[in-house]
Amino acid sequence: MSESSAGLRLMAVHAHPDDESSKGAATMARYVDEGVDVLVVTCTGGERGSILNPALKDRPEIEADIARIRREEMDRARAILGVRQSWLGFVDSGLPEGDPLPPLPEGCFALVPVEDAALALVRQIREFRPHVVTTYDENGGYPHPDHIMTHKITMVAFEGATDTEKYPESEFGPAFQPQKLYYNQGFNRPRTEALHNALLDRGMESPYGDWLKRWSEFERAERTLTTHVPCADFFEIRDKALIAHATQIDPDGGWFKVPMEIQREVWPTEEYELAKSLVDTSLPEDDLFAGIRDNA
Ligand SMILES: [Zn+2]
Repeated sequence: MSESSAGLRLMAVHAHPDDESSKGAATMARYVDEGVDVLVVTCTGGERGSILNPALKDRPEIEADIARIRREEMDRARAILGVRQSWLGFVDSGLPEGDPLPPLPEGCFALVPVEDAALALVRQIREFRPHVVTTYDENGGYPHPDHIMTHKITMVAFEGATDTEKYPESEFGPAFQPQKLYYNQGFNRPRTEALHNALLDRGMESPYGDWLKRWSEFERAERTLTTHVPCADFFEIRDKALIAHATQIDPDGGWFKVPMEIQREVWPTEEYELAKSLVDTSLPEDDLFAGIRDNA
């Protein structure tokens, strides 16, 4: 454990149980190993997630009990990552599909007014007092209404945690200002291309061909990758945590198709986009706590 990590706190805000294991998990495991206190905040219970593991599909007893099963999966992933975790208690909005898209289900997370939903996160920030907060970009990283909502409430709560008029200290705890806010950008195009090319160069099949093709049809602007956190030693922990979400992941799927040694050699980092900083830092960075460590 590096001495300068003692006393540092990282909060990762995620939409559903399993998002913490697919976005920034190796980064969290690395910081835990260094002695950073890491808290995952999960906005919803994932009650409307589809069962994506072929071995567990079409089992009515699983579907009937999905909320409890996903809590247990989250408990296992939390233990594997070595993080703390808390629930905000909102209800999964589900991913609307079809044309036209069906309306969102009543009472779901994405239909809660943003300012109201942010209250719960303000409380968490004031209690845990994170130096660094991570969330998704304004597109949600992927267009699930709960991911976009997660972005919105994090933006409001990051500012609101110091606003004692809007969020009185008597009700929400003492004001606290986190120092940096990041967007997860682990699924970035340069990484995907690098892994794709490395597989083809070695005469292997790549799971990323269709994905890259769709990407080039997308009109979305490229994100700025400000921060590359080295975490290759923790990729195996990341994969174990992901597999712990057994209903949500196909253990034989594309996620696990790239051999570990190629991942470590070709792309040993996870990427972030610095969205707000109250400290001086020079970009690109290789540490979410750059500019904070010496003053913490
Ligand atoms: Zn999600």
